Amino acid sequence: DQSIHIIGGGLAGSEAAWQIAQAGIPVVLHEMRGVRGTDAHKTTDLAELVCSNSFRSDDAEANAVGVLHAELRLGGSLVLKSADAHQVPAGSALAVDRDGFAAAVTKALEDHPLVTIVREEISGLPDESWGNCIIATGPLTAPGLAQAIAEITGTESLAFFDAIAPIVHFDSIDLDKAWFQSRYDKVGPGGNGKDYLNCPMDKPQYEAFIQALRDGEKTEFREWEGTPYFDGCLPIEVMAERGVETLRHGPMKPMGLTNSHQPDIKAYAVVQLRQDNALGTLYNMVGFQTKLKYAEQVRIFHMIPGLESADFARLGGLHRNTYLNSPQVLDSSLRLKARPSLRFAGQITGCEGYVESAAVGMMAGRFAVAEARGAEANLPPVTTAMGALLNHITGGHLSTDEEQGKRSFQPMNINFGLFPPIDAPTTEGKRLRGKEKTIAKRKAMAVRALADFQSWLKEPA
Ligand code: FAD
Repeated sequence: DQSIHIIGGGLAGSEAAWQIAQAGIPVVLHEMRGVRGTDAHKTTDLAELVCSNSFRSDDAEANAVGVLHAELRLGGSLVLKSADAHQVPAGSALAVDRDGFAAAVTKALEDHPLVTIVREEISGLPDESWGNCIIATGPLTAPGLAQAIAEITGTESLAFFDAIAPIVHFDSIDLDKAWFQSRYDKVGPGGNGKDYLNCPMDKPQYEAFIQALRDGEKTEFREWEGTPYFDGCLPIEVMAERGVETLRHGPMKPMGLTNSHQPDIKAYAVVQLRQDNALGTLYNMVGFQTKLKYAEQVRIFHMIPGLESADFARLGGLHRNTYLNSPQVLDSSLRLKARPSLRFAGQITGCEGYVESAAVGMMAGRFAVAEARGAEANLPPVTTAMGALLNHITGGHLSTDEEQGKRSFQPMNINFGLFPPIDAPTTEGKRLRGKEKTIAKRKAMAVRALADFQSWLKEPA
């Protein structure tokens, strides 16, 4: 059997399957949904988005995730192609109709002559007879397989919880109080500068809200006790706990917004909602991940002007995240050092986010193709967004095992901090300073990334 087996048909597994099949090699994709669900998935579609419907910034000049989008498109990504085809307006971000997106990925793989999809749970390490295999079972890897992975890696997998933000029915939002506007009227793909709904608060309302978040009843931690939070996805009540002003400088910042109902009164804080489906019937509360109890969420979020009668399609919640200590257990092409026939992809490798998971899926797929052809995996240069991400995961930049051991490995979104430094360009012989310099450096990094990525694609896989 020449097929490459992939376990898990999420963002990473679907992308890996597509890359391998497009290279002319048969793939068997084992996905358990349909037989067994997870705590976060709601459907049996491949590549289901479990929380936000956003792939974040699509700006390939100034934003690292935008660069990753561009690289995925260049690499013929199924995930990005399907996202582009199912966009909904979201300022400069790439947001999608979640059902249309997942259905497109599922159909493309079902229709591919070299892809076989098997609906089954793989509950232990795959048999050696499978040959080379990719494990892309994600943050909610089913317990049987998770345990088997923990046994072979010899290290304890770290676990923590991501929080999901509530979704509100549009027609229950009071438009006499809320108004449409993107921050700084930014117009993105398919947008008109009015992609967000904004709910204003004055100072007393804001302070009462913060107090309510602090006093609100939270879900019990029990066995999750002591689990560290990832800073990019902090529950709103944890941010409120950190300081009265924390939210006003985070998801509730009032900057770049003018209340169209009361243009003369500057809001003290603003809650933003973003369109969540193509129909525009659902809006999610941006940055409002929470572990408050459901009844408390309803009570406290009804304090928000404009949301007094909000009808919630889904409330926020908390979920497990399983990931490997990759710099220690994986080699430079994502293979398990203890058993190189097993390659890992997606969030289980310690990347964070939909786009990153798809990108690691693309790399794992290409590396598996090279191996099947008897070649060495050709790693993307570290100057590219994919290379930078791979380097973060596998700890390629740390030379000794001792350094690897000392490093505390945390899941991470792609960011310019992971790219090798670059000299700031000068304009007309003048050196740039401060913010201007940062922006110029990032632009230069983005240009370098895309040029290097294109050269890499031309090399033999
Ligand atoms: P998944 O997309 O989860 O795919 C893994 C697949 O493997 C699933 O389909 C699962 O059913 C299957 N599977 C698991 N175990 C087995 C088994 N033993 N046998 C067969 N199949 C199996 N990222 C963002 O960018 N934005 C967000 O808003 C966001 N919110 C998140 C919210 C939650 C609750 C969680 C848990 C994660 C969130 N993430 C978010 C992080 C991450 O981007 C997503 O989880 C993403 O789906 C990861 O992609 P993946 O392919 O690694 O895993």
